[in-house]
Amino acid sequence: MTKIVFATGNRGKLREASEILGEGFELYTPADFGITEDIPETGDTLEENSRQKAEFIHSLKGCDCFADDTGLEVDALGGAPGVYTARYAGESKDFNLNMDKVLHELSLLEASGEAVSRRARFRSVVTLILDGKTYTFEGVMEGEIAREKSGNGGFGYDPIFIPLEYPGMTAADITEEQKNEISHRGKALRAMSEFLNRIKGTQR
Ligand code: IMP
Repeated sequence: MTKIVFATGNRGKLREASEILGEGFELYTPADFGITEDIPETGDTLEENSRQKAEFIHSLKGCDCFADDTGLEVDALGGAPGVYTARYAGESKDFNLNMDKVLHELSLLEASGEAVSRRARFRSVVTLILDGKTYTFEGVMEGEIAREKSGNGGFGYDPIFIPLEYPGMTAADITEEQKNEISHRGKALRAMSEFLNRIKGTQR
């Protein structure tokens, strides 16, 4: 059993990570140690933020831990919201307002009469700190931005994201299992899990 801290306060991320990593992992969160403050993320890239979150918990607890930083990149918006995905519509981090802003910006572009691509992707960067050493894993889910919100599953921007693998359905319409199989977080965390299993194998 691998005991490890996931440096997140996001319940959606925690639920998905538990499911993706499965029974071989016992996940703890900062809240389990009474750490409830917001973990700082002030970097200019997903890589920097992901590392900052993992290092924050490592500096406090000194234990093995990992963090995830995720961005939604919309081609027609020049890759925005990107690293600003959580606070795209303001510091309240309201996911409904965030989604509304993306939909509104695309409709403004379309109103100008030009053909607008709705192509987008989620990118997750996972930083693992294991025995004091740092490792990085990345996962991408390609798709496009829907015209309106749909679905009750998932979290965050899922109701406006149509994965390439499920045309006509958003990431909030499909099951959690279906999402984890194709998602940015699923790919990055499975890469981390394979790495940890390989390392454990060599330490036996
Ligand atoms: P962060 O990685 O915690 O900074 O999250 C960035 C933003 O992306 C937050 O608004 C999350 O709700 C959103 N987000 C992260 N992962 C997902 C996902 O899998 N689906 C939809 N939105 C997500």
